[in-house]
Amino acid sequence: MPQLLAALLPSKQWLKSTFWLQHFLSFASPPKPVFLFQSTSSGFRFNSYAANRRLSTIPVRLDQPEDGSSDLDKLRVLRQKIEVSGITLDDSCVPGRYHHLICPKCNGGQLMERSLSLHITQDRNFAMWRCFRSTCGWAGRVFPESSAAYSEVTNNWMTVDSLGLEPLGDKLIAYFGERMISEKTLWRNAVMQLSGNQSVIALTYRQNGRLVGCKYRSMGKRFWQEKGTEKILYGLDDIQEANEIIIVEGEVDKLSVEEAGFCNCVSVPGGAPQKVSAKELPSLDKDTAYHYLWNCKEYLDKASRIILATDGDSPGQALAEELARRLGKERCWRVSWPKKEDSSCFKDANEVLKNLGADALREVIENAELYEVNSSIQEI
Ligand SMILES: [Zn+2]
Repeated sequence: MPQLLAALLPSKQWLKSTFWLQHFLSFASPPKPVFLFQSTSSGFRFNSYAANRRLSTIPVRLDQPEDGSSDLDKLRVLRQKIEVSGITLDDSCVPGRYHHLICPKCNGGQLMERSLSLHITQDRNFAMWRCFRSTCGWAGRVFPESSAAYSEVTNNWMTVDSLGLEPLGDKLIAYFGERMISEKTLWRNAVMQLSGNQSVIALTYRQNGRLVGCKYRSMGKRFWQEKGTEKILYGLDDIQEANEIIIVEGEVDKLSVEEAGFCNCVSVPGGAPQKVSAKELPSLDKDTAYHYLWNCKEYLDKASRIILATDGDSPGQALAEELARRLGKERCWRVSWPKKEDSSCFKDANEVLKNLGADALREVIENAELYEVNSSIQEI
């Protein structure tokens, strides 16, 4: 409807008109979701069902692309699912770009901002969105193959106050100091602590500067994470425009690599698998252990060289292989951790930093070698 009316207007007015028209329509007829699926630990839960004045058929049947479906089919299903979520698309919404649209949840607030950032990936394998108004923060994603109409990522923004975080105290600054991580690096990465608790580190996960998750680490090396933490890479904003990126296996390794002079580094949010899966890669929506990778795909796609600096033990090797399988081995490079004694090697970036220093760690990263495309691990 907005597109149709806009098409009748002079082309110079097009953008402005659709803008106001959408504002008007959003205001006049606030959309409601037809299906609402909530992400739970056991999958997606059907939550509510409501009529939507803009959608003529209820319930909405979503077409599923057949196997080997064309890009056009996938795009059609994605667009359909996005519309079901309540978002109004226009013809300018093409894959591979970010679009600023009216958020159906908050309608852009009093100023009626186009606060919803929507992205359909270039390969049409999924689409995602997020409203950047601090009081809204509605986010979700859709996959063409998934049976779910759409899934919500999280509803509310986290803030430093809502999580009860405060700047690191002397005790934890000293703890990191022993690991050769400077206050400057801790500050730049917004590493914090739980308020009034000098023994719990809060590793904040951010995207576009916003807090979207938090992982806690006690002195006893116990880890847990804030409910609703998004599955993304740690340090994501640091690779926003990076052509070369480094991926490590832990947040402290990311901080260590920064001490060696590289900010273009991210860490995987979880641990490493025990071994490489012998199976073929699952479809994106079923690739749950690596959703963090797909969620950051737009960032990773920009990189022509990816240095895998995961741990040197066998889970670390398996993680490197699983990452390389997904990222494309031809652009992956692998570091070799230096020898500790005759029989063993240092296991990660922080060990090298602590024992050999920042220059040695920089050298290890600079000497990364092209990933072996025909890796034997894959054939197990
Ligand atoms: Zn919103």
